[in-house]
Amino acid sequence: MVISELKKQIEQMLLDSGNEDFQFDAREIVREVMGRCSEDKAVTDTEYEKCMQMAGRRVKGEPLQYIFGRWEFYGYDFFVGEGVLIPRPETELLCEKAIEHLKKSGGGFADLCAGSGCIGITVARQTGEKCISVELSEAAFYYLQKNILCNNAEKLITAVKGDIFDEEVISAIPDDSLSAILSNPPYVNKRDMENLQAEVRYEPEAALYGGVDGLDYYRRIFKAYDKKLKKGGLFAVEIGEEQGNAVSLLMEETSYKPLIIKDYSGLDRIVMAIK
Ligand code: GLN
Repeated sequence: MVISELKKQIEQMLLDSGNEDFQFDAREIVREVMGRCSEDKAVTDTEYEKCMQMAGRRVKGEPLQYIFGRWEFYGYDFFVGEGVLIPRPETELLCEKAIEHLKKSGGGFADLCAGSGCIGITVARQTGEKCISVELSEAAFYYLQKNILCNNAEKLITAVKGDIFDEEVISAIPDDSLSAILSNPPYVNKRDMENLQAEVRYEPEAALYGGVDGLDYYRRIFKAYDKKLKKGGLFAVEIGEEQGNAVSLLMEETSYKPLIIKDYSGLDRIVMAIK
């Protein structure tokens, strides 16, 4: 069997399971196992078995990112697996806004609800600024630490294991010390949790569910961290596409003048303000 035949077989398996991205997924699986090579290259038995095992997991609905155990975000590789949110392309926008700001202002920043660490690590690597990454979940914290090491960010990131609303975590950060506070907190509401895509159901509820209206974290985060942000600092959070106005209002309650930024699909995705 050659690669093109293997790919066709996997495509068919995925298509039969109702996968709409069957061509992309089949290509990625073959590339993951065999690397980039020509379509007429012969497939060994071991390679065939590996591909079939991955395709079988994908057929059951498991996300490719968990099957491969890593995923690219902003050109960096992040290890992922059960218990950690998969980095999403739309979150790169939050990084871009933070990088732009920190390149001008300089200074340390925080990534709250850090998960895999993709935001803090990316922004720190791009700017050379130091970051405090806070994550509560045991499983996610493991990936955070691993990703810090694998992306050579040990000197830039301080990983803190704890609840972002825990007084001890908050008081360990000096007041007026941060040039940016970034967060992609859980923001999916109750209704959407019940209608999650099959793949997303594999991801931890703790990283997704933001309470009945999805706004639980935003209700507290601006008040809790306002005093940590320097004047002129950036507070920027990722939001669900229907949360722009509600999150803006919550930010205004803490005397910020928020801006809503749309993602590349034209959906509200970031709310941010300069203190
Ligand atoms: N963007 C994710 C989703 O819709 C949610 C991430 C989050 O809650 N921070 O699946």
